[in-house]
Formats: sequence, C-alpha cells, structure tokens
Amino acid sequence: MSHDWDAGRLDSDLDGVGFDTLAVRSGYHRSPEGEHGEALFLTSSYVFRSAADAAKRFSGEVPGNVYSRYTNPTVRAFEARMAALEGAEQAVATASGMSAIMATIMSLCSAGDHILVSRSVFGATVSLFDKYFKRFGVQVDYVTLADLDAWRIACKPNTKLFFVESPSNPLAELVDIAGLADVAHAAGALLVVDNCFCTPALQQPLALGADVVVHSATKYIDGQGRGLGGVVAGRSEHMKEVVGFLRTAGPTMSPFNAWLFMKGLETLRLRVEAHCASAQAIAEWLENQPAVEKVYYAGLHSHPQHALAVRQQKGFGAVVSFEVKGGQEGAWRFIDATRMISITANLGDTKTTITHPATTTHGRLSPEERAKAGIRDSLIRVAIGLESVEDIKADLARGMAAL
Ligand SMILES: *Cc1c(COP(=O)(O)O)cnc(C)c1O
Repeated sequence: MSHDWDAGRLDSDLDGVGFDTLAVRSGYHRSPEGEHGEALFLTSSYVFRSAADAAKRFSGEVPGNVYSRYTNPTVRAFEARMAALEGAEQAVATASGMSAIMATIMSLCSAGDHILVSRSVFGATVSLFDKYFKRFGVQVDYVTLADLDAWRIACKPNTKLFFVESPSNPLAELVDIAGLADVAHAAGALLVVDNCFCTPALQQPLALGADVVVHSATKYIDGQGRGLGGVVAGRSEHMKEVVGFLRTAGPTMSPFNAWLFMKGLETLRLRVEAHCASAQAIAEWLENQPAVEKVYYAGLHSHPQHALAVRQQKGFGAVVSFEVKGGQEGAWRFIDATRMISITANLGDTKTTITHPATTTHGRLSPEERAKAGIRDSLIRVAIGLESVEDIKADLARGMAAL
C-alpha cells in the first residue's frame, strides 16, 4: 500500500523491518477509525453500494469483499502476517491443520498422481492419505524421513508431491530440507513441509527450497490452546489453486480464530524461545535420570541429527520424548503419577502435556507399523509448556518415583 506520509499516517512504514516487527505489525491496515488493536470483522457477508456494484464485485471486475467464505478482512490480515513470517508470496488460512493439508492435496493433485509421504507424519495425516485420497485415485507411498536415497528411489514418472514433517512427532527425526527439495525438484515434484513443530520462528522451509508450507495454527501459532486453525503458504501460482478450492469447498478460517492467531503471532518468537529453553533443560535433566533409558530431543548431542538441527533450525522445539523402564505398564504408571502436567495428546500450549504415543496418537497403527516407526511401548512424549522448569521437573520426578 502506498502512503502520502505528509498527510499523516494510520499504518506504520514496515519497509525492511525484521521478523519480530513483522510479527507484531504486519498484515493489517487500519480503518478510518484509527483503531490501534486489530479489528475483528464478525460478518458473513458484505453490502454493495448498488446493484451494479454487486454485479461488478461478483464478476471480479471490481475488487472487494463479497462473502466471508471468500474473503474477510481479519482473516486476510492474519494471512498476510503469516506470509511475511514464512517469507511466502502468499498464505491462506484454513479451518484446521488437517484442512490445510486437505486443501493442498485437493488443489495441487489429481487422480493418477503419485505422492510420497514421510513415514513419520501426524496420525490423522496418514489416515487422510490412506483412507480418503487413495479412494480418489491418488497413489501414496511412504518413505523413511531422513533417507534422501530412499526418496530418490521411490520416485515415479507421475510423482507430483513430497509431504514431510521435520522435525517429526514424537521422535524428533529431521530431514535435510534443502537436500530433499533438490530430490523433489529433480523428479519434477513439489516439496510440502508441515512446519507445525518449529513455526517460522525456528525454521522457514521456503527459504530452504520447499515449495509449500502447511501449519496447524492450533499448536504454537495460537500457543494457548484456544482454537483450531491452519495455514498453507507458498508461491502465488500454487496459492491461487488452494484459494480456489477453499472458497468453493468451504473449510475456511473463522474471523474470530484469525484474530486470536494474529495476536498469537505477536508473541510467537518469545514464546517459542521460552519453550525451547525449558525443553532443553528438561531433556538434559532426563538424560541423567537412571529410570530413563533414552531421550529423543534434537538439542542433545546424543541425537544422531544434532548437527543438522543446529544448521537447519534456530532452536529445537518443545517436544521431548523418552523411554522408561517397564514397557507400557511403566509408561502408564509414570504418566498417572504426575499431578500437574496435563494428560492430553495435544501440544503447542502454555501448559505442559504428557501422552503415551503407542496407545493414543499412534494407537491405530499395528504393532508392526509402530515398530517400523520406532514407537516403543515404553515411550512417553511431553510437550514442554511455559510453567516454571523446576515445577515441571518435580512433576516428572513423581512419575519416575512411581516406576
Ligand atoms: C496437530 C497437527 C496437525 C493437525 O492440525 P489440526 O489443527 O488438529 O487439524 C497436523 N500436523 C501436525 C504436525 C500436527 O501436530
């Protein structure tokens, strides 16, 4: 937007500003009311100045709002702020993280296309590909996340897209995103990265060569466990297709949630850095506990991909997984002995959460599939929140004492 600065200003000049300034100020244009906080446009439709104006806006001859399934000023502001933070030409908001993934595949793939998916992705993502997309003639194969040769070998002439999460949940495996982007592009495929665990505060996949980024805004973007939402970000040529699908099929973001998430972005880096610092302290502490057999956290020197994590991410995230003695019984006894930490499978909240992946998030996998994914019965996952580190440790110590 151009401004006549001499006439006074409502909006800030953000030319050349950094990440933190973009997180706080980008994306929003003030109304003539001069509101300082971002306005929340709770409206499903918009009025036209005349019948002729309506016709022009419907035909697209004149730009402007028509209906909130198509555009909403609050949602648009959140989208613009997300695009700025991911370094994307355009971002599109969706009703949930899953609808971001669905919209990406529905808009960029067709029957007969082949998709390669990391074996280590969110459980519902596997169901979406296996139970639904396959039904519509999309071929899906799974590949070990970190093994670039395996991706290369799995490519077919009709491979359209690679889909990964890095780092993965719950074992914090990584893939070299720049290397994988080269493999995808050599095969004529697009690389889609679910950036939920890092957020743009720690990792910007587009700058590393990925083509599309998807998010569950439900997690760290909100960061306070209040609402569901998702984002797809990338080049305009692809986002145009995603927008076309969303406005027709309907899983768009509510303006209220867009407003929540926009406020969440203002504190994103501060929150994520605090999450990472606490997670690092707890991972190091866990590694020294006799009751703990193994800790999975990319910030530890014992993590096989620690060097890649240092190179690729600005921090190691908040998810720490570990194995305890005593198999499933031991893990359950540990979890049940905690008294503060929330027993829930969600993550990306100010509140620390604890879960047993083998019987919750990965419970639908067969024992063989779980073994292949490295999810042992003795594995516990904690997503470290923003409580006092000493209090989180004390609660985890209760779990250990129960073993
Ligand atoms: C939670 C999550 C999703 C799904 O997001 P929803 O907002 O729950 O639909 C997708 N990917 C990852 C990595 C997640 O953690």
